[in-house]
Amino acid sequence: MSKLNILVVEDEEAIRGMLMMVLDQAGFSAVAAADAEEAQKSLDEVFPDLILLDWMLPGISGVEWARRLKKEAIFKELPIILLTARGEEEDKVKGFEIGADDYITKPFSPKELIARIRAVLRRSGKLQDSAQINLGDLILDTEKHRLSIGDKQLEVSPTEFRLMQFFMTHPDKVYSRSQLLDQVWGRSVYIEERTIDVHIRRLRKILGEYGREDLVQTVRGFGYRFSLLD
Ligand code: CA
Repeated sequence: MSKLNILVVEDEEAIRGMLMMVLDQAGFSAVAAADAEEAQKSLDEVFPDLILLDWMLPGISGVEWARRLKKEAIFKELPIILLTARGEEEDKVKGFEIGADDYITKPFSPKELIARIRAVLRRSGKLQDSAQINLGDLILDTEKHRLSIGDKQLEVSPTEFRLMQFFMTHPDKVYSRSQLLDQVWGRSVYIEERTIDVHIRRLRKILGEYGREDLVQTVRGFGYRFSLLD
């Protein structure tokens, strides 16, 4: 299989170098650009599978460039992960509004970065579903039906396992109870929305044994969000 290509747009040389190294080690091929203008030029030569884009760039900002790109039909479906030093909820919302697929706050660990990239590539169908889904220190093995945090294995029911599989492949987004029903149980199954709450409670309890109950967050009046971020 040929390597997937990632365009890295980051003005800080040290961070850019680190990103290129981490991507290379993870088996990706990467092209670097120091600003939006350079990035735009590189798009004429290589069509990337994903763009890793710094929010704060000299000249045209990352978020502004992403907004422009997403307006062009050929780049509309191109996954973009925004890198930012900001951690404000408002910025996150802005990032998703312009069509970014994910949002990573600096500083981040190489492991988290690669997990996020793989999750976005998987969602966009560029990376085949492997048996293992990694998100932070969470590992979900879809063949062995095992969920672990680091090297500790968790006891989850098949339903909670499916819920975790959905959450881990769709982090940081809010889903209503009915959306979760559709996605996890399927549209054809009739289940009361309250059932979701029961499963969420159980899941939190299991995660809570490892001090991680805050991974599943309640968004008042809407539903639930799964996030490694605070
Ligand atoms: Ca920057």
